[in-house]
Amino acid sequence: MRKPIIAGNWKMHKTVAEAEGFLQQLMEEALPHDVEAVICAPFVTLQALVIQSAGRFVSIGAQNVHWEAEGAFTGEISVPMLQSLGVSYVIIGHSERRQYFQESDEMVRLKTKASLDGGLTPIVCVGESLEERENGETASVIQKQVQQALFDLSTHEVERVVIAYEPIWAIGTGQASTAEDAQEVCQLIRQTIAALWNLEVADQVRVQYGGSVKPDNIRTYLDQPDIDGALVGGASLTAASYRALLSAV
Ligand code: PEP
Repeated sequence: MRKPIIAGNWKMHKTVAEAEGFLQQLMEEALPHDVEAVICAPFVTLQALVIQSAGRFVSIGAQNVHWEAEGAFTGEISVPMLQSLGVSYVIIGHSERRQYFQESDEMVRLKTKASLDGGLTPIVCVGESLEERENGETASVIQKQVQQALFDLSTHEVERVVIAYEPIWAIGTGQASTAEDAQEVCQLIRQTIAALWNLEVADQVRVQYGGSVKPDNIRTYLDQPDIDGALVGGASLTAASYRALLSAV
């Protein structure tokens, strides 16, 4: 049985005080236990969030990481640095990073491998553009991204990866994918992993949908057999809305 995982991606939102206020509000009431709750926050808020959430139900993640452990990479943050804070997840290859910061499939692969080696759980994002969808290229784009991100990983490593299927046209637009279309791609992701490794491994990997997920539509995705949760931007920014997402599981 795969445990559902609802990850919030705060992007470049919230100061330390705002992040602490969110968590305080979120933890005021008991949270459901049959779901894994993860908040992926800006680097500067991570330490405060890890301390505040210690021993509680919410895990903390970063939104990016460098693949080298240390060195002359001004402005970058490494896996051991995140680990030393107690961070447990990291988003890798979000489409905004691919688009605005020229992250390639090879960089996504290196970051995924380094995260696994360092004990972090990578949430690897894949997704097609509107043009690619309209050209009928969705399946080939997704297969290539999955293949390249996970290339050369062992079965034990692949099992630990979370894949987020995020069609670029659905992110932050209010134009969510239908649950059926999202299921089709998430099933393809699982089939791709089964073909590259085996069925048992593919069965373990958690696959999320992301793209304009809200409290009032999340259930339709979770009802799909190959969708194990959601990666959520806008609707994860208030404690009330994030709680509503968790409660829908
Ligand atoms: C995201 O940032 O990964 C995302 C899916 O954003 P939103 O939920 O706002 O579409």
